[in-house]
Amino acid sequence: MQDENCIFCKIAKGEVPTSKVYEDDTCIVFDDNDPLMPVHTLIIPKDHYANIGDGVPEETLGHVFGLVGKIAEMKGVTEGGYRVLVNTGDDASQSVKHLHVHILGGGHMPRPND
Ligand code: 5GP
Repeated sequence: MQDENCIFCKIAKGEVPTSKVYEDDTCIVFDDNDPLMPVHTLIIPKDHYANIGDGVPEETLGHVFGLVGKIAEMKGVTEGGYRVLVNTGDDASQSVKHLHVHILGGGHMPRPND
């Protein structure tokens, strides 16, 4: 399940170079190319789902979110803390329409309304 026009599908297939952090059969994890924090890493399923509500199998969702702690550890943010973010749809300003989980850390982040 791929979308040939999707940049994250191209990254998953290795067609676009990226700063890869981790890969397995289901997911690829890479650093954001326009980081908002010192650590800004994205976990994506290799299969194309437009967002978290796009019929993603529970097993895939479990795998994606099951990687969060491991990736946070690899990126060295477990002690200081980190934010896990999934922008979904236009009101949340989702810009890439392929499910991705942001891991943000490496400094203090105010709450969105602060
Ligand atoms: P969204 O706004 O959809 O939640 O987040 C999409 C994220 O993907 C943004 O933080 C953006 O910087 C990142 N991004 C977009 N295109 C690329 C790319 O080609 N490579 C990498 N590494 N990150 C990307």
